[in-house]
Amino acid sequence: MADLLTIAEAQRLILEHAGPLPAESVTLEDAARRVLAEPARAEIDLPPFPSSAMDGYAVRAADTPGRLRIEARIAAGRPAAATLESGQAMGIATGGVVPEGADAVVPIESVVEHDNEVEIDSGVERGDNVRPRGGDIQAGETVAEAGSVLTPARLGALAAAGIAQVRCARRPRAAVLPTGTELRRPGEVLAAGEIYEANGLILSAQLDAAGAIVELMPAVGDDEAKHRDALERALGADVVVTSGGVSVGPHDLVRRVEAELGVEEMFWRVSVKPGKPIAFGVRERTLVFGLPGNPVSALVGFVLFVEPAIRALQGVPEPLPRFDRGRLAGRRRRNRERDELLRSRLRRSADGAVLEPLSGQESHMIARSAAADALVFVPRGEGALDDGALVDYLRLD
Ligand code: AMP
Ligand code: MG
Repeated sequence: MADLLTIAEAQRLILEHAGPLPAESVTLEDAARRVLAEPARAEIDLPPFPSSAMDGYAVRAADTPGRLRIEARIAAGRPAAATLESGQAMGIATGGVVPEGADAVVPIESVVEHDNEVEIDSGVERGDNVRPRGGDIQAGETVAEAGSVLTPARLGALAAAGIAQVRCARRPRAAVLPTGTELRRPGEVLAAGEIYEANGLILSAQLDAAGAIVELMPAVGDDEAKHRDALERALGADVVVTSGGVSVGPHDLVRRVEAELGVEEMFWRVSVKPGKPIAFGVRERTLVFGLPGNPVSALVGFVLFVEPAIRALQGVPEPLPRFDRGRLAGRRRRNRERDELLRSRLRRSADGAVLEPLSGQESHMIARSAAADALVFVPRGEGALDDGALVDYLRLD
């Protein structure tokens, strides 16, 4: 099996074909989880004016301590009041415009007000409780770099900095096509030899979470003409993800029919367990992934190979899965030829993450996978990983 690609080699080939899609303008309302194609620059200084950080009184610091006449009351959202002269104070709300002439705000809690005067017992410094104009960011400065994913915090930053629209790579359109004559939709009655279709749902949910616009096609039977029709339609998308039919059996038609439809195969089979017979090809700009039919193989193949492509198409600079480190619970033999990903339960202990591989690691055992929240990476080789060994793992949520 020395001829099989490693996971890293396969990922490199995929990413060579997965440059960012063209950018489009997106309103902030639609931009959550999208990826910036260009840096987003502040439209305004933030705050746009010197603003009060407290409910209190705007004053000249030099007038404190002292007793000051209250000249005006400034609410948030109102234009600046008149210039504050020496000997004056102005009531001001949090977020109110600090008037010209004032250089500090005395918090309401630390003064006594009576007869329209305020008595300030201790001195304040210039700048106390005043948020200077542009103190957060100045107009023209970068709020978020190209390649940033628009998290809730970043969306808030863009909105506050006056940005209404951003440029993002178009979301990839993905077609999911499960193959197999034996597949029935959940809810239908199974005839002899039939099983329920699971991969379409797995892959659609994974694609959606990765940022793609997904079309889940009805499962197609193991028939060349049906494959041709369904695949030709699927190939209109940016990314095609099939499941099943990429092995060596007489009913495994996906690769052959794709070749007839002009898909150029870049690789077939990777030294990974589960998921070895994965295929990847391209037709023009469309990326075509053939995942094996066993549901666990499809799930793992997606995480290792499809998700990075979906992220790269959106312009994420480091699209490969990011592993965390934890400790293996129990001893585990390594596979001599293939890197292995073990469905595992993730537990937090006083000294970090502990990973307990589930019993039943065969690639058809999708129901057992429901208990998994991580994939533990076991590099191929001789011998075993000992109980407590440091391992890399991927979270599955
Ligand atoms: P294949 O790769 O087509 O040889 O399929 C391998 C195994 O996975 C077979 O037992 C199939 O019945 C099963 N399988 C294929 N596709 C699906 C699917 N969409 N959902 C659940 N099981 C599937
Ligand atoms: Mg099949």
